[in-house]
Amino acid sequence: MELKREVQTAEILDPRRDFQPTPTSVEVRWDPLIGYSSRIVAGASFLPPSDFDLEAFGRQTAENCFFCAPRLEAVTPKFPAGLISEGRIHRGEAVLFPNIQAYSLYSSVSVYSPNLHYMPLKSVAASIVADNLGAQVDFLARAARYDSTARWASINANHMLPSGSSLFHPHLQGSLDRHPTIVQELLARVPADRFRDYLNTEKLLGQRYLGRLGSVDWLTSFAPFGFNELRAFVPSVASPVQLSQAHVQDLAEGITRALRFYGELGFECFNLAIYGAPPETDGYMLSLRLVCRSNLQHLYRSDVAYFERLHWQAMVDSTPEELAQKAGDRFRG
Ligand SMILES: [Zn+2]
Repeated sequence: MELKREVQTAEILDPRRDFQPTPTSVEVRWDPLIGYSSRIVAGASFLPPSDFDLEAFGRQTAENCFFCAPRLEAVTPKFPAGLISEGRIHRGEAVLFPNIQAYSLYSSVSVYSPNLHYMPLKSVAASIVADNLGAQVDFLARAARYDSTARWASINANHMLPSGSSLFHPHLQGSLDRHPTIVQELLARVPADRFRDYLNTEKLLGQRYLGRLGSVDWLTSFAPFGFNELRAFVPSVASPVQLSQAHVQDLAEGITRALRFYGELGFECFNLAIYGAPPETDGYMLSLRLVCRSNLQHLYRSDVAYFERLHWQAMVDSTPEELAQKAGDRFRG
């Protein structure tokens, strides 16, 4: 498979070099699965680190948090008994309940724990990620059995306010709907051999492939949607509703390592999506994307500009190869 990219170079008279003619470059890359393009402005620094005191802000927001014990039991909704007989799903410390403002036909929120209001990414524990992910898989599988017309499942996260979360308390969101999102629809159209070809090409090239944890392959995106983007594939699985307990453990291990990596890079805000296709989609590989978002800080710069919001094209400041080098052997064995 050819991974399509082009570096375009023009010239400016640079005031930093006494107005000498100086080349300026920008790289455009095309995603080999769904064809969208990204811009890489190597050497720029669009997402500065932050000295914002997240722990203090956590203490402040915990006082009235709906997702903290003991308020969660009193103020979060329950599912009707026909869908989830016990109303809310408990797994380990994780608690899953309906989104009070539905984002999709079957829309869930799950906290890692009612006692975990502040979760610094450097110290995320794999067991709490696995329990929370497991609760979402259980919910989506039961909702899919309850309503066979809803076949598009996804598991997602907005983590911290700049990522789109309205609440500080860490949580995941599940979605089962009759209609795909645009990215779900595009991914579901990818022929089976193209998924395999992409993954094999990346393994062979070795510049972005990070390793395999159990049943899950991890890599940096050739053409990212966002900053420090990591991508994972679960071959032979089309929908989150088909994930076994072993798959959940493997995925949770990788997500945990990814979040700790983000913490070490100086980021605390992220978005996650696990894009499901209908379970019978032939040759589909369950696909995950994880991106860093702007840190919380006063007068911050959004990581989403006119390129992302209006042109549907990411513009990022470092290369996927640099990210893979920084990740090192984190995703190996
Ligand atoms: Zn809370």
